[in-house]
Amino acid sequence: DAKRRSTNSFQYYTSKMRQKVLRYMELENILYQAIEKEWFQVYYQPRVDINSRKIVGMEALLRLPYQGTYISPAEFIPVAEETGLIFPIGKWVLETACKQNKKWQLAGYPPLRVSVNLSPNQFNQKNLLSQIEKTLIETGLTPCWLELEITEGAFMNKAEATLKTFSAIKKLGVHISIDDFGTGYSSLGFLKRFEIDCLKIDKTFVNEIAHYDKDSSIAKAIIRMGKSLNMAIVAEGVEKQEQLDFLRQHNCDQVQGYIYSPPLPSTDFELLLQRDFDLSCCL
Ligand code: C2E
Ligand code: MG
Ligand code: MG
Ligand code: MG
Repeated sequence: DAKRRSTNSFQYYTSKMRQKVLRYMELENILYQAIEKEWFQVYYQPRVDINSRKIVGMEALLRLPYQGTYISPAEFIPVAEETGLIFPIGKWVLETACKQNKKWQLAGYPPLRVSVNLSPNQFNQKNLLSQIEKTLIETGLTPCWLELEITEGAFMNKAEATLKTFSAIKKLGVHISIDDFGTGYSSLGFLKRFEIDCLKIDKTFVNEIAHYDKDSSIAKAIIRMGKSLNMAIVAEGVEKQEQLDFLRQHNCDQVQGYIYSPPLPSTDFELLLQRDFDLSCCL
């Protein structure tokens, strides 16, 4: 009986593994097609000032429509990373977001900063700086209206190289934020040495912020520490009024979340801009 059970669990795991491998290969194939056939889209989610409730920026988020639905970036970004496809895809996102932001500025909307996610391999690529510079020149976007979001994983064990990359990015005039802050392994010493403009508190700390002491303590500590180091603090994944109230009470600067708006296609985001930036009517 024991033997039979172990055989079954062996088969169970191999079939699970096979499913994973098949899905990986399928995604790789879809990514190649998506690049060739230009399936990718960029959505924009507003960043909202917690006190004025005005839009102060937007995050560019990649979308992959496939067979009537969307494949989550959480699923396909790791495949893009491993296959190297993240380089052409990431370049396209950067160009698209800068071009769109410039377009909105030329249309007469007050200027906003667009933030673009950089995966670890993108952040560590050799030609990153020249790519950013070239994109800014070609799109005509002034550097201060671009922000790059980087996770702590991108600079693990790479303090010296990261320091150089960060200061080169800052020298261009581009802003830097640390995404999903608190979920990675960066030492707090990094915050002192790196030129970081903004910390984004990860959604996992925001979910139960109004009810779970440990999450609220961590969030409060991030806000206090970040602000005393002159960084702006953004809370991610804010869905409920009680979360917003807590964050406002503890001096968080900005929020991003479904409570104001999900990520939207550019045409729908522009409708938000037309409403005079004021999202208080959403509540
Ligand atoms: P992220 O950069 O931390 O982005 C925030 C994620 O939270 C987005 O998921 C956004 O849609 C979602 N979100 C925002 N507000 C709420 C909310 O109130 N509730 C909930 N449940 N979710 C909310 P998304 O778009 O699925 O992206 C997932 C991750 O994929 C991103 O996390 C980012 O790490 C990565 N990603 C997305 N676009 C790109 C890209 O262009 N390049 C790279 N390298 N990574 C990207
Ligand atoms: Mg992000
Ligand atoms: Mg995040
Ligand atoms: Mg994330």
